[in-house]
Amino acid sequence: MSGFAVRVGQGFDVHRFSDDPNRRLILGGVAFDGARGLDGHSDADAIAHAVADALLGAAGLGDIGQHYPDTDPTWKGADSIALLADVVGKVRAQGWEIGNVDCSVVCEEPKLAPHRDAMQAKLSTTVGAPVTVKGRRAEGLGALGRREGIACWAVAVIVKGAL
Ligand code: MG
Repeated sequence: MSGFAVRVGQGFDVHRFSDDPNRRLILGGVAFDGARGLDGHSDADAIAHAVADALLGAAGLGDIGQHYPDTDPTWKGADSIALLADVVGKVRAQGWEIGNVDCSVVCEEPKLAPHRDAMQAKLSTTVGAPVTVKGRRAEGLGALGRREGIACWAVAVIVKGAL
């Protein structure tokens, strides 16, 4: 029996677009100039939140709402990249190394491709492992298809010990 363990975690997040024209859109730690912002207690970075939840889930550490409740003024307007970095620290403190994280972002707007490399670089640096971001349109279906918000699914793999 080796002392090697591998765990997978899944994360999901969704935020609706804000009616506040001054709200900036932040995804994967990157500001999308000229795009509608998302509503939320923090900066509403749905990708960073989904990645954080995937990592917490993989490590059996609960979810983002437990660790960073939206009733806590500490995290009002928070930079979600800082929150994600905090999650990475919690996961590593349990002896886990992060293998990789893969994200699927679903929205009709804005176009993600122009910011994809920047998002992947920011997230990968924060997580200390490869983070990939894929964009998908909702084909006009449902709330996402009606351009009411942006959703993100993320999957994370973490490993512990030696083979
Ligand atoms: Mg969120």
